[in-house]
Amino acid sequence: MRSGIGYDSHRLVTGRRLVLGGIELSSERGLDGHSDADALAHALIDALLGAAGLGDIGQHFPDSDERYRAADSLVLLADAVGLVRAAGFEPVNVDATVVMERPKLGDARLAMRARLAEVLGIALADVNIKASTGEGIGFVGREEGVAVIAIATLRGGRAGEVG
Ligand code: MG
Repeated sequence: MRSGIGYDSHRLVTGRRLVLGGIELSSERGLDGHSDADALAHALIDALLGAAGLGDIGQHFPDSDERYRAADSLVLLADAVGLVRAAGFEPVNVDATVVMERPKLGDARLAMRARLAEVLGIALADVNIKASTGEGIGFVGREEGVAVIAIATLRGGRAGEVG
């Protein structure tokens, strides 16, 4: 068993959609970025790549690459799962904390878990999403941005490795 962590943050701006875990949330502002700026998907990608010892999201999906402009980050997540599987690993579970003042995740949380479970090829019960706020402190508290931390656990290993 191996685990990896991931972290991502994006700026909140007007005129952008707020997409987290592949689900669009109702919000007057959204996350700015080269892709759809899905910080939850990005943190999960880094957690998966980290667990597999495969570097980070910027190495595999550079934001200088025009192919990833406005990209659906769940497609990138699916690609990351493919890299992980090609290295001999299988996702076991993921957990993440979305740090955001508003909106509340509410019913979207279940939809996010379902979409992520589908892409990761694991059960709904193996995808956990927690919500936290910045308590008015820092860039999250000032509603300048959203941060997400994540962890992923994998089983398996490269040929020849014990594990
Ligand atoms: Mg990102």
